[in-house]
Amino acid sequence: MAIFEKEPIFIPKLQDQKIFEAGFSFPAVLMDASHVIWRPKAAKKVKESAGVFIVDPSTHCMLFNEAKGKENFKKLSYPADVQPEKIYSDSSFRRENVIIPAVDNQVKMGADIIIAPYFFAMDTDDIKFGINISMIAETIRYVEEKGIDKPIFVKIQIGNNVLCRPSIVNYIVDRYRDDFSDKIGGYFISFDELDCKNATEDTLGGLAYMSFQLSEGKNVIIQRIGPFGEIISSIGLTGFSSGLGDGESLVVKNLEKSPQGWSNKVKKTYIPEVFDKVNDEIVKKIGYKCSCAACQGSFPVGEQAKKQHFVHRKMEIMDALSKLDRPQKIALMEEKLTKAIKLAETYNRKFAIDLKTIHLKRWLNVLQLAKNWSYEKDDDELDKLLQDLEK
Ligand SMILES: [Zn+2]
Repeated sequence: MAIFEKEPIFIPKLQDQKIFEAGFSFPAVLMDASHVIWRPKAAKKVKESAGVFIVDPSTHCMLFNEAKGKENFKKLSYPADVQPEKIYSDSSFRRENVIIPAVDNQVKMGADIIIAPYFFAMDTDDIKFGINISMIAETIRYVEEKGIDKPIFVKIQIGNNVLCRPSIVNYIVDRYRDDFSDKIGGYFISFDELDCKNATEDTLGGLAYMSFQLSEGKNVIIQRIGPFGEIISSIGLTGFSSGLGDGESLVVKNLEKSPQGWSNKVKKTYIPEVFDKVNDEIVKKIGYKCSCAACQGSFPVGEQAKKQHFVHRKMEIMDALSKLDRPQKIALMEEKLTKAIKLAETYNRKFAIDLKTIHLKRWLNVLQLAKNWSYEKDDDELDKLLQDLEK
């Protein structure tokens, strides 16, 4: 039975239930375990209003100084001040102190799926890459022993530099897909400091290729991603997850030490017609109008209105995509990207502004590539297929 009611979907990452007060309902919602333990009442309301309630065990935080010191994280029963080597080398210590609390927390918090504990790995040479693979097997064993009847998901959280190296992308796919294929429901994937607006076409192509290869018979959800999320969802993924407008990228170094000082943040509004967040001054200058329920023919003003506008427009495109087959989905996003490039160029000429279009052209190229992809069979499967044919 399918876990999610349709695909692709947008999975908001929430800290509280406020967005539901605007009347939204979501096929799935994600919360960090530390937020659930911080605001149990809010989490209960979120769970009641979501199709699938997902709790991220956030186990990666235990290896970063700033993140593990946070009050709410400390309440999750993970080991405090543990030597990483102990976790890496001692599987029974790992079971008691990482696997069991991570799984039990999710069950207690009412999660509908179980995300296996994971650590951030810079690349495939990082010792944590192998540890993550071991922890998947250990999680499957524990969940089976306890008779927990919920689908197990795996999280891949890795440095973005793996994406421009095809042999590494293939290696990751092989390890994660072939080792556990019968036992898991899908994947959450996120990349450190991945900026889809500035990333090269090779990096974006690697991201799309990895996600697509993992998606054969499995759910694939990209986390912490901006407007490229809805583009990439069209190639056959379950969808993407992000906050409601801000903090859409993963920056691991901030888990070790928070950035100091206040940055003077420019106020911006998401304009889906150009797949970008645009400076509020420009939003006014171009006379931007949106017909969503929050904007009602105007543009959103204030933080809450901007969040609602963001959610309305994300849900709208994901709903449209969910009614189409794969070639139609890609075609729809190609059409929207082509229109966005033209619209941005028109705005630039007419209002003497400088909306960027170069990333939109890269995104379009990635979709062109993805059109002809098919799932790669591994060697064993090919051998078996050939044997069957001979018979
Ligand atoms: Zn709107």
